Amino acid sequence: MTHPSANCHSVTVLEGDGVGPEVVGAALMLMDVIGVSLKYEFAEAGARAFERGIVSGVPRETLDSIQRTQVVLKGPLATPIGEGGKSANVTLRKMFETFANVRPARELPGIASPFAGRGVDLVVVRENVEDLYAGIEHMQTPNVAQCLKLVTKLGSQRIAHAGLALATAEDRSRVTVATKANIMKMTEGMFKRQFEIAARDYPNLETDHMLIDNCAHQMVMHPEQFDVIVTTNMNGDILSDLASGLVGGLGVAPSANLGYDVAMFEAVHGTAPDIAGHDKANPTAMILSAVMLLRHLSEFTAAQKLEQALFVTLEQGVRTADVPGPLPRGTRAFAEAVAANIGTTSSVPTRNHQDLKMPNICQEDVQQMPGSRAKVGVDVFIETNESPDRIAERLHAALATAPFALEMISNRGTQVWPEPGTLPTCVDHYRCRFAYDESSPWSDHAVIDLLARVGSVYRWMHVEKLEEHDGAATFTRAQGQN
Ligand code: NAD
Repeated sequence: MTHPSANCHSVTVLEGDGVGPEVVGAALMLMDVIGVSLKYEFAEAGARAFERGIVSGVPRETLDSIQRTQVVLKGPLATPIGEGGKSANVTLRKMFETFANVRPARELPGIASPFAGRGVDLVVVRENVEDLYAGIEHMQTPNVAQCLKLVTKLGSQRIAHAGLALATAEDRSRVTVATKANIMKMTEGMFKRQFEIAARDYPNLETDHMLIDNCAHQMVMHPEQFDVIVTTNMNGDILSDLASGLVGGLGVAPSANLGYDVAMFEAVHGTAPDIAGHDKANPTAMILSAVMLLRHLSEFTAAQKLEQALFVTLEQGVRTADVPGPLPRGTRAFAEAVAANIGTTSSVPTRNHQDLKMPNICQEDVQQMPGSRAKVGVDVFIETNESPDRIAERLHAALATAPFALEMISNRGTQVWPEPGTLPTCVDHYRCRFAYDESSPWSDHAVIDLLARVGSVYRWMHVEKLEEHDGAATFTRAQGQN
């Protein structure tokens, strides 16, 4: 993650769409003024690439440039709505495995917010490539959609270390892992456990766990208590926007997408089509993203100079139209005011920063194989509007001599057969759990035979083998199942 200081650094610049060229232009002008030695490779992504028929929104030349420079200053990219082109943003994050989304939220001078004066200064470190955002979705029946939530030991370890290493690099003392491990014990639970394992390598840091709902509540009630929050992709998406709202909103929220090789720095906001081309965009978020980029390049003095000049400018009451107050400036005039303040010092100190040293965790480091694996059953998901009793009756008849016994039926995760006392509203999507008769040796042929038997009475669309690892179940019980 470190780069030799004093050398000329190559940076790929994606000016982006909408207000992108205006805010990126402001940041580039300021990086030129502070005199750090940077060589830019301008590349294309987003709307213009889609217009050229590149469905991913990211042309080959752009990927090549990023491979070369490994550092990107990126403007916002428009995502086509509905069918057609993919999100070029997501393509870039996935192709370069930038697994850590880092979103600092620090109170800024002169930026009004209900939390001004509270000293909010936190960083949300969000896992960026897994979870519900793996994008694996199916319409399992015409009425039931499913999205797979994938959480891995590798992904969890990497982001845990990213958050812990970031706290160390920024002289912070507390790292909170925020999860929904009480409900999603396998996915969010794994994330929590892997964080706790990683935290053992950072004895100087105070670490704790908070349930995500309480974390959202605490962020609004007592935001000043937080230092670094590490969380899963979906939770982090929401919490990081909440964090931006604490300190003034989209116009002032910077971010970094970090992987082991590539780092991309961008404002959190989008292309702001309503103000694009009108010299109205607030470049603060992009300037703060450039400050993060400079730190990534170990240009700490330059980063401090730029951050301090921005703070002084905001302290002077200079502002763009999105920030309430008199006499708003345009994007360019705001950036020129920052340039004029380079070399001055504000009353808000720059945090102490060192190089971020993320240990390179790979699959072999985290992979564990159980001593024993026993196959104990199968969950088969079927489509029907029949009653649970009728389904059980027909499945019993279809099973005949198969080495499986119907153990339980659930609907949307709640047991409906045997009926546990009350029956919830049922939709046309049932999970039928079959226990395996342990006296017969397990064979996949038996599973295929089971599916054929189930398929003779119902349409099945999904099947999951049930295993015990070292004697412990690797699947959850249904709500209401005893
Ligand atoms: P947006 O962030 O572009 O705009 C939301 C509102 O915030 C608008 O009123 C806009 O004028 C204002 N705003 C945003 N940035 C501002 C700035 N720097 N200064 C002043 N005001 C600012 O969100 P949207 O309208 O939902 O999205 C527009 C497009 O941007 C979509 O195509 C979306 O996919 C894309 N987008 C891209 C990224 C990215 O590239 N990282 C992020 C979010 C949205």
